[in-house]
Parts: sequence; C-alpha cells; structure tokens
Amino acid sequence: MAFDFEKIKNDFPILDQKIYNKQLIYFDNAATSQTPLQVIEAEANVYKTYNSNIHRGVHCLSNKCTEAFEDVRKRTAKFLNARNNFEIIFTKGATESINLVAFSFVNTFLNKGDEIIISEMEHHSNIVPWQLMKQYKGIALKIIPVNEQGELNIEAFQNLLSPKTKLLAITHISNALGTINPIKKLIDIAHNNGTKVLIDGAQAVQHIKVDVQELDCDFYVFSGHKLYGPTGTGVLFGKEDLLNSMIPYQGGGEMIQTVSFEKTTFNELPYKFEAGTPNYAGIIGLGAAIDYINEIGLDNITAYENELHKYAESQLLTIPGLRIIGTAKHKTSVTSFLVDNIHPYDMGMMLDKIGIAVRTGHHCAQPIMDKFKIPGTVRASFAFYNSKDEIDSFVSGVRKVKQMFA
Ligand code: PMP
Repeated sequence: MAFDFEKIKNDFPILDQKIYNKQLIYFDNAATSQTPLQVIEAEANVYKTYNSNIHRGVHCLSNKCTEAFEDVRKRTAKFLNARNNFEIIFTKGATESINLVAFSFVNTFLNKGDEIIISEMEHHSNIVPWQLMKQYKGIALKIIPVNEQGELNIEAFQNLLSPKTKLLAITHISNALGTINPIKKLIDIAHNNGTKVLIDGAQAVQHIKVDVQELDCDFYVFSGHKLYGPTGTGVLFGKEDLLNSMIPYQGGGEMIQTVSFEKTTFNELPYKFEAGTPNYAGIIGLGAAIDYINEIGLDNITAYENELHKYAESQLLTIPGLRIIGTAKHKTSVTSFLVDNIHPYDMGMMLDKIGIAVRTGHHCAQPIMDKFKIPGTVRASFAFYNSKDEIDSFVSGVRKVKQMFA
C-alpha cells in the first residue's frame, strides 16, 4: 500500500469507537464519508480566529476570511482542472448544483418541446429537478435504459438523441450499483449532436481523478460531505460561456452589481450564482479536504479502494444465496446486495447490532430498484480508511445474519 494506513486511521477519530460494545465498521461512505481532523480543525479555526462575513468587509477579519474562501475556489478549480477559477460555483451540495443548472439552463436556453436525457440509474436529485422543469416549462424527459448488469445501453442513448435534445444529465458513478459510466464517450456523442452535458460526480470525485477540460463536460457537480469535507458544501463547475449566458438561480446580496426598483444588474462570475452569505466556514473546510485528498493522492486512493472493492465482492459471493445487484464491468467502491429473501432493512438492523454501518433501502434511486424489481438493497460502500480485516468481519456478520434467518 502506498500510504500510511495507521496515520490515516488517527486522522479520523470518529472511526475509533464502539457501537453496542463492538468496534465500529463504517461502510456507509457513499451516503457520507467521515471528516479528518484537518478538515474539522480548518472549519473550527474559522470560528475560533477569523469568522467574519466575506467579500463585503474592509476590516482585517473579513479580508482574511474572504481570502481563505477564494483560495478554496482556486484549489477546487485545480482539483477539477477547470480552466478558470470563476467557473467554480459554491453551493450547498450536488442537489443544489443540479437544481441551479435545471432552473438557469432550462429557463435560458430551452423551449416547450425541447428534450433532456437522463438515465434509469440516476439519483432522485438528478431526476426530480428535470421533472419540475417538465412540469413548469413543458420540456420532454427521455430515459436511457440500463441492462441487467447495470450498464447504460449506449445504442439506445444514441437513438434517443434528436435535434431537440439540449442536455444530457448523467451520473458519473451510480450510488446504487457502483457502475462507472463511460462519460467521455457519452460526452463526445452528445456534443456531436450539439447537446450539452451535465455530469453528476457526487460518487466520483472521492474515488477517481476528474479532469473537466479533458472530459470537456459542460457542467460537473459534487457534494463536500462525500469528499471528506463538511456537510452543506457543494460545487458546480460550469463552462464560462454557458454560465455567463445563463440567468441567475437565486436573487439576493452578492449576486448583484447595482439594485434599484427599476433595474438590477448582476454581478460577474462566479458571484452571479452565489446569492446570500455562503457557508464560507464549510467551504474553507472543503479546501482542507481537497488538500488532504491531494496529499494521499487520488491515484493511491483509487488503487486501494479498487482492491478493497474486489476483495469484498469476492468474499461476499462465497455466501450461498447472496446476489450482487449491479455487476457492471467497470465498478467502484459500492456493493449492493441481497441475501435469500432477507429484507434489506432486517439485514441492516442486524449488522448494526454488531457495529457495522451499511445503508439499506432504495438509495434515492427508486427507478433503478423498480427496474430490478426489488424494494431495495443492502449497500456497503468503501473508503480509503477501510481495511480488508473490516471486510472479513462484515462478511462473517452477513453470514451470521443469514444463519439466523435460515
Ligand atoms: N447524486 C448522487 C449520485 C448521489 O449519490 C447523491 C447523494 N447520495 C446525490 C446526487 C445528492 O447529493 P447531496 O444529497 O449531497 O446533495
């Protein structure tokens, strides 16, 4: 292993605790990953030493806070390899980033009858914002089907494209199945049709390197709390020309240049899309999370997590009656499964009693559960601070629960 596992464990004090007198094993990372001390301290330090509202102040604390906040924008741009810092918009999460694009992109560029394509494996936050636009704006929504393995049907996608297709909004990695979608290919196909592309990277940036210039995506979104950062923080990357043309999402302070009752003019990027006081302490924490990830190295994280994931699936599959939901060729860090006819909720409750935290249910992806004709799954999702020993305990826990229900 290329990184110092003991040091990493010490950086996450939350992991060192007992649940019902059993050592905690945290396998719910796809819902929220844990925050290292470096992030907690960076955020606490804002409140301890320089908390002050950003951008508007002339005094020292406000300037210091503004500088720290804007420096995170630079580091985030570098993290995604965005061409310009002002292409990074801070939001409260992936959900808000998608809603921003849904409102501003659709209301700027789309007319009744124009089409947006999503897929069967989307999280609700990449379905419902578009449905709202369908309801309010009369756009049409088309859905790319997924095969039995949980992979997109690319041919069907190509057949869905028409001159009216204005946007493809698609997840990079499925939170329910773990599938890594071939987004570069999808982006190229979409662009050939004159269709813009939004990538939901909520499950991707913490696992694999993302380069928005190389991908050439038009929008890319993620949440801070899944990237070892504070909750209530998120990012929208958007290409300069698109963001400049789009109407603002919310009105308020910061996003304006001048306001009168007759006419208001809007601020330049990125502020045009950052109305009101942002979660600047959280964003400064997010900056520390990005630094933390960079220090370990995303390549090291990817390699280690792939190893964990492969090991987990191979061990789980030794349990008779266990079936993995989502068997795509390219997967990462998420394993959804069912055992016999044990309800996922029962499995999750029993695992919790032995200190193992997994997620159960539809994972905010009900359409893909319907597709597989299941009410939900048990989902174990891994991070770089997890270990093969933990996987062994987890697999033996699943085996025990199966025996109890036998
Ligand atoms: N997209 C995907 C693929 C996700 O997994 C999630 C969170 N589960 C979201 C979007 C929404 O993220 P958030 O709740 O942090 O806004």
